[in-house]
Amino acid sequence: MTAKRFPTAVMGSWPRSKEVLRALRDKRAGRISEEEFLAVTQKAALQILKWQEEAGIDYVSDGEQRRDNYISFIAEHLENVRMLSVSELLEYIDDKASFEEILGTLDVPSFSMTNPAATGKISRKKPIVLNDFLFLKKHTDKAVKVAIPGPYLLTRSMWVEGLSEDAYPAKEDLAADIVKVLREELEDLISAGVEFVQFDEPVLTEVVFTKKNANRTFMCGALTAKADAREEIAFALSLMNQVTEGMLGRGTRIAVHVCRGNWSTQDDILLRGPYFPLLPYFRQVNVDQLVLEYATPRAGELDAVREMGDKEIGLGVVNPRTETVESVEQIIGRVQELRKFVPDEKIFLNPDCGFGTFSQRPMNSDQIALEKLKAIVKAAEELRGQAP
Ligand SMILES: [Zn+2]
Repeated sequence: MTAKRFPTAVMGSWPRSKEVLRALRDKRAGRISEEEFLAVTQKAALQILKWQEEAGIDYVSDGEQRRDNYISFIAEHLENVRMLSVSELLEYIDDKASFEEILGTLDVPSFSMTNPAATGKISRKKPIVLNDFLFLKKHTDKAVKVAIPGPYLLTRSMWVEGLSEDAYPAKEDLAADIVKVLREELEDLISAGVEFVQFDEPVLTEVVFTKKNANRTFMCGALTAKADAREEIAFALSLMNQVTEGMLGRGTRIAVHVCRGNWSTQDDILLRGPYFPLLPYFRQVNVDQLVLEYATPRAGELDAVREMGDKEIGLGVVNPRTETVESVEQIIGRVQELRKFVPDEKIFLNPDCGFGTFSQRPMNSDQIALEKLKAIVKAAEELRGQAP
């Protein structure tokens, strides 16, 4: 049997219910035990799994219900990492006014932003996502996708001046241990038979598309002054390639996801620009798949993929931030455009980004998210029905 053409996948995160939000708050405040927290979040994960199965998605996730946001959850899995709120983070920023201005003008949900910071030598305290995968796998025959923050995103956010220097004089020193931790996790995930591992590197677009306040990033809270964009991209590339060295072709599909941020539904403030400045990264990064946002015009024309090498493309075909559900025709139209540049067996369909990157600010309701997934699956089915 040949593999199914146009497999469909979710990105990872899903909106949190009131119960999950309460459990996240209670856990942080120490009002509930880890077991109680797990009971609530696992129940939520199973509901989300059911919706994805109902929609007919091929690569499902657990909705990242245990995560406060896409990055800060890592703090509790690593030794010597402290979670900082925005106000705590501000203490380490010299130019507080401009940082606050970025948060304000960009509509950043600062109440929801927490940042993991390295305060000593880091190592894995417990697996990062392995246990979440094992739980989900007990309940489904579908292929499972797990998302982990990428090495560049982690380095940028975890190296905080005033907190990290004793253990790591420079962010490059911390990066070496981040690569080590991610490789350990990846080994475990491959051994456990995870079908799809996605590294999230959203901050890459910030490197190339932020003009004002370019030396500051809020997306990961990092305070590291930015070098030349080309140098940063080369640095990010070397980190990712160190993580995946020797890991490809062992049964687990490995991907990098890049998007324009997913913190607000106000489209005009999110990062804009075609992928061309990132081509050196895309061309040389050693992964199976690039998962790219393409449902928004902010991402530019699709022809940029021509220069990304012969990798699979996880095409973003629905916008998680809009209430309108994309039509099947619209989605098919987008895929037809991609087919001019990429062979069918290398095309995956997925939303642009998660539906709940930040627990406190879901991008959509369960209902609309589900409708969007159904539209993706219908489009994939129609495409499969057509002659190759
Ligand atoms: Zn994203």
